[in-house]
Amino acid sequence: MTKNSSNIMALAPNTSNKRETVCIFGTGDFGRALGHKMIQAGYPVVFGSRSTQISSLIPKDAEVLSHAEAAQKAAIIIIAIQREHYNFLTPLAEILQGKVLVDVSNNLKINQYPESNAEYLAQLVPGAKVVKAFNTVSAWALQSGTLDASRQVFVCGDDMKAKQMVMDIVRALGLTPLDQGSLLAAQEIENYPLQLFPMWKFPVLLSLGLVAFFFFYCLIRDVIYPYVYENKDFSFFIAISIPNRICPILALTLLALVYLPGVLAAIIQLYRGTKYRRFPDWLDKWMLCRKQLGLVALAFASLHVLYTLVIPIRSFVRWRISSHIVSQALNNKTEPLDNTNAWLSDSYLALGILGFFLFVLLGITSLPSVSNNVNWREFRFVQSKLGYLTLILCTAHTLVYGGKWFLSPSAYRWCLPSAYMLSLIVPCIVLVVKFVLVFPCLDKPLTRIRQGWERKPQYSK
Ligand code: NAP
Repeated sequence: MTKNSSNIMALAPNTSNKRETVCIFGTGDFGRALGHKMIQAGYPVVFGSRSTQISSLIPKDAEVLSHAEAAQKAAIIIIAIQREHYNFLTPLAEILQGKVLVDVSNNLKINQYPESNAEYLAQLVPGAKVVKAFNTVSAWALQSGTLDASRQVFVCGDDMKAKQMVMDIVRALGLTPLDQGSLLAAQEIENYPLQLFPMWKFPVLLSLGLVAFFFFYCLIRDVIYPYVYENKDFSFFIAISIPNRICPILALTLLALVYLPGVLAAIIQLYRGTKYRRFPDWLDKWMLCRKQLGLVALAFASLHVLYTLVIPIRSFVRWRISSHIVSQALNNKTEPLDNTNAWLSDSYLALGILGFFLFVLLGITSLPSVSNNVNWREFRFVQSKLGYLTLILCTAHTLVYGGKWFLSPSAYRWCLPSAYMLSLIVPCIVLVVKFVLVFPCLDKPLTRIRQGWERKPQYSK
């Protein structure tokens, strides 16, 4: 390796390709971590601090000066200080004239202040060029070599040249700058690190609600009813039988809920005769979290598979099989093989296996690393065509499982049908409506509407 190689340059700030000095206000956790990273990348760093005493925590190649002295040494000043303390910058306004001020601050709450911290900084120091950056990177990530999740740095600012200078620094640190436009974007960038899985809220809350509902439903039907009418204690069903009933119900219902907004959107577009009108807000939000709904459904399907695998080793199941064999032996009578039952049980299992296989395939193709490698048509083919095939297979799996008991009075306890019957409601609605929508008399106008055709001009009188 030659002496001019980039690796050596990164560690040796005093080479011929010397970088411009960067000033950092604040010697706290973030200021120090950023300073350390910048020195590694070859930037001379000068800290502006209330105390000029060098502490052992401060990177050893950095200088520590007063705010005013440090500001004079650099064109770019990173303000690694909480917004509440920005007032100290007002007396420095003259020195900061024309400098690039980088606002890295975050807040404790979403939309905590009427304006973003970066806009507030621009108001305090009107002569400076404020750029928002680095707030989505943590001090810990900078120190520990940056993780993939924190490699992206959102940058925004009104001055193009200032923004470019900051983006160059971001790149030099081995991070990826993402230009978000003017300083108006700062509020959104500041809210970003405060969001907690925003797309997962609805799917998770809905799943929790459905789990609670179906748990009590199964408890009433499968534990309380036999106890009241037959004096049988099936309370142990709570451990495996009831969860193994809830998981497939949730998997099927949530999978159907992934496709329901699509058919609702189609009906709305057909009714309106145009695609140029916004869907209701709730439908928009529902469509945005379809991937998360599908992944939660896949998690329940996987749990169902695991619960099913342990069925043969359950004590209750082994007891039932052995007592059946003993009763046949005592009666000296062997039951002949029921061919219909054998067919039904094998078909039910085959449909379940195929449905789960496609379910997993859908999950894999939704991963960014896979979906980024297929084109839009391929992605749509997998998510729409294979998705509907999965829904058909899983619905058929449930229908074959219990179809023969639909009309049997014993399937209704306290007038409540078996829980799996409820799980068929949404999937059957989705599949029937989708089936109707593929008829040419509806599919053709829908395709034309989606290509931009309008049944009647929206703005005519
Ligand atoms: P910190 O450890 O509390 O450091 C803040 C620094 O601000 C202090 O060390 C102090 O530096 C300076 N300061 C405190 N009171 C001051 C005052 N009244 N006047 C002037 N300066 C004052 O906080 P931090 O974690 O480094 O965070 C600094 C900024 O970076 C915050 O806006 C935060 O939102 C942002 N940020 C932090 C992280 C992170 O992971 N920590 C990530 C992204 C963004 P001196 O003693 O040298 O004056």
